[in-house]
Amino acid sequence: MKKGHINVETENIFPIIKKFLYSDHEIFLRELVSNAVDASQKLKVLSKNGEYDKEVGELKVEVILDKAAKTLTIRDNGIGMTADEIDKYINQIAFSGAEEFVQKYKDSDSKESIIGHFGLGFYSAFMVAEKVEIITLGRYDDATPVKWESTGTTEYTIQDTEKATRGTDIILHINEESAEFLEESRVRGILDKYCKFLPVPVIFGTYSEKIDDPKGEKDEEGNVKKVSIDVPNQINNPTPAWTKMPAELSKEDYTKFYRELYPTTVDDPLFHIHLNVDYPFNLTGILYFPKIKENVEVQKNKIQLYSNQVFITDSVEEIVPEFLTLLHGVIDSPDIPLNVSRSYLQSDSNVKKISAHISKKVSDKLKEMFNKDRKDFEEKWGDLRIFSEYGMLSDDKFADRAKAFHLMECTDGKFYTPEEFKEAVKATQTDKDGKTVFLYTNSKDEQYSFVKSANDRGYKVIELQGPLVSHWIQKMESSLDNVSFARVDADTLDKLIQKEENIPSKLSEDEQKELQPIFEGTVNKDKYKVQFESMSETDAPIMVTQPEFIRRMKEQQAMGGAGFFG
Ligand code: ADP
Ligand code: MG
Repeated sequence: MKKGHINVETENIFPIIKKFLYSDHEIFLRELVSNAVDASQKLKVLSKNGEYDKEVGELKVEVILDKAAKTLTIRDNGIGMTADEIDKYINQIAFSGAEEFVQKYKDSDSKESIIGHFGLGFYSAFMVAEKVEIITLGRYDDATPVKWESTGTTEYTIQDTEKATRGTDIILHINEESAEFLEESRVRGILDKYCKFLPVPVIFGTYSEKIDDPKGEKDEEGNVKKVSIDVPNQINNPTPAWTKMPAELSKEDYTKFYRELYPTTVDDPLFHIHLNVDYPFNLTGILYFPKIKENVEVQKNKIQLYSNQVFITDSVEEIVPEFLTLLHGVIDSPDIPLNVSRSYLQSDSNVKKISAHISKKVSDKLKEMFNKDRKDFEEKWGDLRIFSEYGMLSDDKFADRAKAFHLMECTDGKFYTPEEFKEAVKATQTDKDGKTVFLYTNSKDEQYSFVKSANDRGYKVIELQGPLVSHWIQKMESSLDNVSFARVDADTLDKLIQKEENIPSKLSEDEQKELQPIFEGTVNKDKYKVQFESMSETDAPIMVTQPEFIRRMKEQQAMGGAGFFG
């Protein structure tokens, strides 16, 4: 046997990294800003550990566009690099300084998260730049500023340079094909997309705004003068709501954050779920329930996926079960593998666990709301029903849990869970096979007469509407014990058998004896029956019923003798 060592020729692998690693060229900016954020976070960690004892100052990342020079500069005042560190972290492809740092400090208490992972991000700069310069000053007392330069071949130069302040400038000389990245709006767009919630302030250029003169000076007409000021233009909110504890946040804070995520949305969300998991994987986030109406017309506010506050994508189909894509909000997980193919995502076991967990959280939340304030839950149900039906149809575990809160609205305006409804009608609505029959209508207005005749016989009818109903009924018939559904206009009504064993009277025997003569003395015994046994739990203690044939005869007479029985 011969053991070998695979040789990597950098000349060969370099173009692959440059051109094909990322399908989307714009992410170079995400990578470089992430590195600048990491450099700042690392300095915070070292300062807390006492390894850095000088002033940390206000850490920030600046993105500076110089159209004339055709450069885009990413500047930070973080940890910086020495010539040796450049050699170790930059000149070695696929050696991640971030990963090394996380390993070294994983036991420290600091909460600063580090974004980098694979040691490839930096080289994405060459997708858009013909030349990249690094001008950096390390954090050590005796550090000398250095400049590294490369045109994207495997050659580079490194030399001493001038730099007065700690930190790093990455200067990209944007190439011809990538001129779009010299447009202010394009750069701002990318920063807005990927950097909106990074944990360190990210500033893009400056803009001018006219304000009332702070000194109060007046113009000729006596009005307070307007003066221009330069407003630093911060792209991001470094402490988005999902990174805080639920106890720190009010309902308004959650709504405000929803607006921050989706500035153009009109409707407020119905409610939210704050996700916070640290075992067996890390996940934080806030999911919002939009109002989902009959036509499933939901505003297409997609769930945004972040990793350590860096935006990754808003196509989360692989990460959350399909029915949950109706929800809005943010998921942040450092455990979701990035920059990998979709088919890989689908089979990743972490992704599967995350998806199952989110589904459980959502059903738990609905259950909790149901238990806490049923009336309020019933009021929201119109906006939740389709979602729950969809969930029950596409996720068996969700379906199992949803049985505890999924509601059906009865034509009498009451709401029942499937089990409650079964309890309520099992004594009266049974077919010849002994199955409890759930009578339903698709529209109590259109099927008014059928609903009425069912109600007249003491049957309860539920209203089921929407595009998913027939599938949902099948699902329920297979999962509820001994239940079948029948539409109210099917020829079911007459086939229902009233169960022999009625529910015992709610009155004591003495009470019955006392009340019986009074009632029977008042009503015409030939036409009415006084009944103490209820047909269902909800029935009144005494019922005066009319036999079906008498009711029909009377109906016939009222109809002018038209042949009802004919
Ligand atoms: P990763 O971030 O996955 O470690 P990168 O290729 O993005 O890989 O960066 C390689 C390494 O270069 C980083 O881990 C870090 O040590 C160093 N580095 C890159 N940018 C900076 C910066 N702005 N300041 C300090 N160090 C940096
Ligand atoms: Mg990186």
